Amino acid sequence: MNERLLIVEDEEGIARILQLELEHEGYTVGRAEDGRIGLEMAQSGEWDLVLLDVMLPELNGIEVLRRLRSAGNPIPVVLLTARDTVPDKVSGFETGANDYITKPFAMEELLARVRNLLRIFQQTSKEAEGSDILRAADLAIELRTRKVFRKELVIELTPREFDLLVYLAENKNREKTREEILSDVWGYDFIGETNLVDVYIRYLRQKIDRGFRYKLIHTIRGVGYMLKEPDA
Ligand code: CA
Repeated sequence: MNERLLIVEDEEGIARILQLELEHEGYTVGRAEDGRIGLEMAQSGEWDLVLLDVMLPELNGIEVLRRLRSAGNPIPVVLLTARDTVPDKVSGFETGANDYITKPFAMEELLARVRNLLRIFQQTSKEAEGSDILRAADLAIELRTRKVFRKELVIELTPREFDLLVYLAENKNREKTREEILSDVWGYDFIGETNLVDVYIRYLRQKIDRGFRYKLIHTIRGVGYMLKEPDA
């Protein structure tokens, strides 16, 4: 366990105890003593979670949180506050706090919440990563990096070949006419030039299917093409 936690807290005593306890749990800990520095550090991308005091000099915790979220930063934030009042909690959650803990807090409770939040957050980012990969049989397409693999083999594609393959994989096991492929992958300007599709399917086959016993790209006579999985 080497998750990195940022403590934004102006009360030296509380910050020090938190740091000691969290380091004892195996976390790497950083500290900021006011809201402005806290915001800067939280935005650096170096931290996995922020423990954010509400009453802070320079910028208060709610404002730090609001600026983080309006910049699109999803880092998990636990708000710490001395005031257990309803308006505080409401404005905290509305601003995008993931959790809330009232001072004085029991260390065990705080540690449990931190563990829980880190676990949830790591799960969701793993799932988000997973949905970035398109799969069909032994073919894997990484949409973000535009990398393509068949089994463990890296396949180099031109941008157009890549777009065509993504389209076929998104529509795997479904027949697509040349006209559909042309308008969906090339756009309407190319309508009528369906031989383009045949040409690019040929290129793709050479890269995707050549040397593999199972051919993924199938010709549907008189219709068009289909990327078909063996058991479909
Ligand atoms: Ca404070």
